[in-house]
Amino acid sequence: MFGNIRRPFWAFDLFDFYIRRKVLGRKIPLLASFKLTYRCNLSCSACPFHRRATDDHSHITWDLAIEALDALKQRGTRIVAFEGGEPFLWQDGNHDLHELVLHARKHFLRVAVTTNGTFPLDVPGRCHLGQHRRAERDP
Ligand code: SF4
Repeated sequence: MFGNIRRPFWAFDLFDFYIRRKVLGRKIPLLASFKLTYRCNLSCSACPFHRRATDDHSHITWDLAIEALDALKQRGTRIVAFEGGEPFLWQDGNHDLHELVLHARKHFLRVAVTTNGTFPLDVPGRCHLGQHRRAERDP
């Protein structure tokens, strides 16, 4: 899972979420995840996704990903996770996972990437895999 952008406000943010969800009864998903691509550099036998890598709609566009993030933000979701396939293989034109994580970190308390771990963790933020690093491309 990769860090957040509003670190000083996370407690307030979660308190606000709690009030809206528990006190006001709003149906807000705390966490949402979506698949960026079915492509994967591995081919695990039990996995259906890599077999669908050439299907229509097996790959989300940048515009659709931003639209999905906007919709989740509107609903009040606090945590998003990008999945695959292998999300580090996702790219749409000049846009890549690094840029998508940067965008998401502006709007969500936490941003996570579910990866098979075979690529360098080149995304902004802190990596919670027992090591801490910050990508060189961070602003
Ligand atoms: S690494 Fe994950 S996405 Fe890739 S083939 Fe294996 S289970 Fe499927």
